[in-house]
Amino acid sequence: MSANGPAENPSPSSGTPAGHAPAAARPTLLVIYTGGTIGMVRDPKTGALAPFDFDHLVDNVPRLARLDYHLGRVQFHPAIDSSNMTPIHWAAIASAIAENYDAYDGFVVLHGTDTMAYTASALSFMLEGLAKPVILTGSQLPISDIREDGTTNLVTALQIAAARDAAGDPMVREVAISFGDTLLRGNRATKESSTEFGAFHSFNYPALATMNLHIRFREEFLWRPNPTGKLTTHTKLDPAVSVVFLHPGITEGSLRAQLAEPGIKAFVLRTYGAGNAPTTPWFTSAIKDAVQGGRIIVNVTQCPDGGVEETRYDTGDALAAAGVISGLDLTCEAAVTKLMYLLGLGLSAPEVTSAMQRSLRGELTEL
Ligand code: ASP
Repeated sequence: MSANGPAENPSPSSGTPAGHAPAAARPTLLVIYTGGTIGMVRDPKTGALAPFDFDHLVDNVPRLARLDYHLGRVQFHPAIDSSNMTPIHWAAIASAIAENYDAYDGFVVLHGTDTMAYTASALSFMLEGLAKPVILTGSQLPISDIREDGTTNLVTALQIAAARDAAGDPMVREVAISFGDTLLRGNRATKESSTEFGAFHSFNYPALATMNLHIRFREEFLWRPNPTGKLTTHTKLDPAVSVVFLHPGITEGSLRAQLAEPGIKAFVLRTYGAGNAPTTPWFTSAIKDAVQGGRIIVNVTQCPDGGVEETRYDTGDALAAAGVISGLDLTCEAAVTKLMYLLGLGLSAPEVTSAMQRSLRGELTEL
């Protein structure tokens, strides 16, 4: 698809506006449409939303033709509600990016909001050495509704994917979520609202850009890895990961049953506050038994803001003594997908433990 039209090439402004390179060639962007509310249509009788195809979406955004971009497209068949996303879909998205990497300046992934933070986190690990923008967006209301947020989100995501820095290189060289008025690092983002147009937040890392009257990049926070110049795509994730969510009153039977789930190699343990858990002897021994039985357990707090400091309280210390790895300030989404990625690489438990403490793609703050 090519969106030709009257020449209008909106140039997003940067936090350092003087540093913008003049618009070079016409940006070439690939839009990967997976589904989600942005392209859904309402059943006139029930009002329920169901996924629809990409043409429907484009028909509802005639102003796309006014962007002087060349837009290619890849569409998921069928388009899906993101509640149905799996690591197989993540591999399909990563492969679509890898196959088209040289031909496009950037990539915009249209995705449902419900699991967008998981997909963004997974892609950040799967796309090693990424040096081009991969921008995920979607919407809270379908683009075909009279009042909606999808058009602005889509246009803004395309403009961000097309943005260049002073040297003429892509401004964003990482996987990010563009939603409402903020651009967030994908593996730091969490869906925080099912009703607000600003559905996502990054509690432990600053926004990469704000999008109001101007798009203002905060270049000091953008991911600038040492570019190898080469993209390595890891599509083999190991889904043998599960999440155990603590709550007062959790029983020994429930905890042991979860930790003994056949085939599961690693758990994200959602703890309280600074990474605390009960110190009751049965609790500690259930955790110890699981670790000694070869399970990897990563401590991630239930608090969206802040992280795990296991040595701050006895209740966290006990977990560390039982062999639980601190997830530092990882989001749950990043912890789950990072474990799937590391296990997919075939790493041993000590190697996974060490990698979980290091920032691979800017997903955590190292101690
Ligand atoms: N259930 C939808 C999805 O995640 C919600 C949305 O797109 O906002 O696909």
